[in-house]
Amino acid sequence: MIPPFEDVFNYCPVCGTPSPMVGQNPFVCTDCDFHFHFPPTVAVGALIINDQQEILFIERSKNPGKGLLGLPGGFVDAGETAEAAVVREIKEEVGLVVQQLEYLTTFPNVYQYKGVANDILDVFFVSRISDIPNLQLQASEVVDAFFGAPAADFLSRMAFDSNRLAIEFYQSQQS
Ligand SMILES: [Zn+2]
Repeated sequence: MIPPFEDVFNYCPVCGTPSPMVGQNPFVCTDCDFHFHFPPTVAVGALIINDQQEILFIERSKNPGKGLLGLPGGFVDAGETAEAAVVREIKEEVGLVVQQLEYLTTFPNVYQYKGVANDILDVFFVSRISDIPNLQLQASEVVDAFFGAPAADFLSRMAFDSNRLAIEFYQSQQS
C-alpha cells in the first residue's frame, strides 16, 4: 500500500518541528501553528471527439502509467480555471487548439508516484472537433495519439480508472 501524502509529511515545512500527528488532516504544527490541508489536487482531462464518435487517446511516455493510455490533460495551475487548464494541456500535449468545451463530470483519482500516493480530483470536459489538423505530440509526455472507438480493448489499457470511468460515463449519456 503506497502511503498517502499526509503519511510522509513528517516535519513542519515552515519551522521544521517534527510532527507528533503524522497522517492527520489538516496538518497542524504544534510549535508555530502552521495549518495545511492535504489534497485532493485538481487535474483536468479531455474527451476530444471526432465526427465518427471516436475519442482521442494518448499513450503515456512516462510514469505513472508509462505505455498505458490516457486522455489529454494534466494538473491545474494555481490561479488558473479548469477550463483554461484543459485548453492549455491539450495544446501542450497534442498541439490542438480546441474552440469548444462542455463540462462532463468529475472522478477522484490517485496519482501514485515515487512511493507516495497523491489524491486528485479529475475534472473532465468534452470537446467535439470535426477538422483535425496534424497532431504535434509533446514527446516528454506522449508517445502516440490516435482516435479510436471507446471499446474494451482501449478501456482495459487506461493508466487511470478515473479516465476510463469518465469515458464510460460519457457513453452512458449518449444512449
Ligand atoms: Zn511549524
